[in-house]
Amino acid sequence: MHCPFCRHDDSRVVDSRTSEDGTCIKRRRQCPSCGKRFSTTETASLTVVKRSGASEPFSRQKVLLGVRKACQGRPVSEDHLALLAQEVEEAIRAQGAAEIDAHDVGLAILGPLRSLDEVAYLRFASVYQAFDDLEDFESAIALLRAERPATGVEPDPQHVDE
Ligand SMILES: [Zn+2]
Repeated sequence: MHCPFCRHDDSRVVDSRTSEDGTCIKRRRQCPSCGKRFSTTETASLTVVKRSGASEPFSRQKVLLGVRKACQGRPVSEDHLALLAQEVEEAIRAQGAAEIDAHDVGLAILGPLRSLDEVAYLRFASVYQAFDDLEDFESAIALLRAERPATGVEPDPQHVDE
């Protein structure tokens, strides 16, 4: 790392901090030649490879856009969406690969979206998994029902004891 002041080609790390979301490391450096201090941010690059073969840097914003569309009209706040996008990015980065298939980004979104809002999940899945007809919806809904945890389900208000 060159010193930005005197171009000395070495620097000493005096402090390292991982950002809150764990995706980058901020370092405070000091130049051994001129003594000035400067900061650097290191981000592990993550590339998304699209079906066309083209690749682009991973963008949390793109995840957010796709999910926001699926959540239109649903009781899901921007905070929920931001958290979900963060969760997705962390899950992907935790896999440790420098490249990921766009398809796998979609897969990583499905899980957290499902716990957030089942209707939004179905919308997203229908586009993403290219549902062709009602049967695809039916089987996805059946799967949701079957996998719904037995505990923690809110009581049906129609059947609450008087
Ligand atoms: Zn310097």
